[in-house]
Amino acid sequence: MDALVNAIKRKWTRLRFRSVRVFCFHHVSDIFDPDTMWECDWTQTDAFKRNVLALKKKYTFISLEEAYNHISCDKFRNTNYAVLTSDDGWASLKNILPWLAEEKIPVTLFLNPLYMDGKHFQSRDSEEFLTKEEVVFLVERYEPLITIASHGWSHDDCLKISMESFKESVRKSEEYLMNIKGKVPFYAFSFGRHSNKQLEYLGQQNLVPVLMDGMVNYDDVSCIHRECIDDE
Ligand SMILES: [Zn+2]
Repeated sequence: MDALVNAIKRKWTRLRFRSVRVFCFHHVSDIFDPDTMWECDWTQTDAFKRNVLALKKKYTFISLEEAYNHISCDKFRNTNYAVLTSDDGWASLKNILPWLAEEKIPVTLFLNPLYMDGKHFQSRDSEEFLTKEEVVFLVERYEPLITIASHGWSHDDCLKISMESFKESVRKSEEYLMNIKGKVPFYAFSFGRHSNKQLEYLGQQNLVPVLMDGMVNYDDVSCIHRECIDDE
């Protein structure tokens, strides 16, 4: 009887869905700068590297697009996959992207085009963001490991803007980013907030909504769930 139970358990283990974990990070630097960073968005460089290397032992890092394909088509996958994404396009990413490339770890950057051309983000200095030229250079230098996608035209709370403004923000950011190599069809909401109507709209535009809800992904690609890497 035990043998039978164990055989069923083994079979079940092979058949059960494995989650795909998608992680998000923001600033990575040696020193925290209170003038340009929020503490909850900052990871110290060595701590970040240790965390990623620990994850690399447990997971195979793949790109967001590959993850989407596994979630939608490869339901009985037998590999544990993880994905790295980064929001806002902070200039501090230049500290860590070369290292991620050395480690052959793909990353998707969610960007706000408004700040890539030197415009201001709240009270912060625009120099704190990657410029368009820097993004183009990084994508080409580390191709195909760095991909880019939209975080909205500017960093608005999507629940505080009208549906028309949201649509305009999506349209403008798509138009801008489309002209840069490495653009992928995903959209991460600024501040992680959104309405159901906005989710629906992204679907109509063939963009996959990317959420920040601390959840993992199984077989539903109507949206991609993410976790903060520092919570790991
Ligand atoms: Zn953001």
